[in-house]
Amino acid sequence: MSEPSIFVDSITYSYGKQQAVRGISFDVAPGEILGFLGPNGAGKSTTIKMLIGQLIPDAGTIRILGTPIKGHNSEIHRRMGVCFEEKNLYLQMSGKENLEFFARLYGLKHPETDKILQQVDLWNRAKDRVSSYSKGMRQRLMIARALLHDPEVLFLDEPTDGLDPVSSKAIRDIITQRAQEGTAVLLTTHDMYEADKLSDRVAFINEGKIYALDTPENLKQSHGKRTASVRIQRGEEILETIIPLDDEAAALKLRDSMSEGRVLTIHTEEATLEDIFISMTGRTLQ
Ligand code: ATP
Repeated sequence: MSEPSIFVDSITYSYGKQQAVRGISFDVAPGEILGFLGPNGAGKSTTIKMLIGQLIPDAGTIRILGTPIKGHNSEIHRRMGVCFEEKNLYLQMSGKENLEFFARLYGLKHPETDKILQQVDLWNRAKDRVSSYSKGMRQRLMIARALLHDPEVLFLDEPTDGLDPVSSKAIRDIITQRAQEGTAVLLTTHDMYEADKLSDRVAFINEGKIYALDTPENLKQSHGKRTASVRIQRGEEILETIIPLDDEAAALKLRDSMSEGRVLTIHTEEATLEDIFISMTGRTLQ
């Protein structure tokens, strides 16, 4: 089997006496999007900081594109894109100047700043100062900056947190497109819809540990309970019956409840990723 783009085995990290990451293992294949879903303080940022060499793990192994990571490694950094919550953009420069500045730092000879500004939908504001940009525009510029050098691995910390739906969608589309082109993506979020929509696989992270790691579909099928709610009218009365669909007798129960009167509505419901997260960890995502 070929080496995954991101390989992590049993990493731990403590801030003084507080253990923030307690033995996390996972991998991400080229072109795959792995979503780290967990509440504040779960250990998501600490994990990413170790992967990008900002923090050195107390124990465990990290390999990015086959190269062992222990602290900063400029060779491998050139092949990574990183977008963190901190907004370290130059506010007095325009969006385009910001990208050109970082392109020089990366040593890029022919940066495709115009193309990327178009991709993140900032082309018509490219010459305006970043100080006049909205939160969503600044975040899109951060993503543009992370993509400027065509990274093979992309790390995104809460990429759409607090953004309007239009900016969020623009960012999701870019992430999906890059993954389709072969970039491995690790993103963190505490938004279950984001994790569900964007990720090929989702890791539930809480108290520095991974509780589950699978496709959103498998997580829902193996841990969630599906139900159907049938509302019928019998004379003046409206009756509602909830029928578990994973029950062997589901078909019979559905037929029986539907024959008791005039069927008004039938809705099926499946557990959300947050429902499953709560049942596994005892915590909400907020
Ligand atoms: P958030 O979304 O709030 O950043 P997170 O899942 O990314 O949450 P981390 O930031 O990795 O979580 O934090 C994990 C734990 O480590 C938390 O208990 C946090 O308080 C603690 N922690 C994080 N950074 C530091 C630090 N610089 N010094 C001490 N403790 C820290």
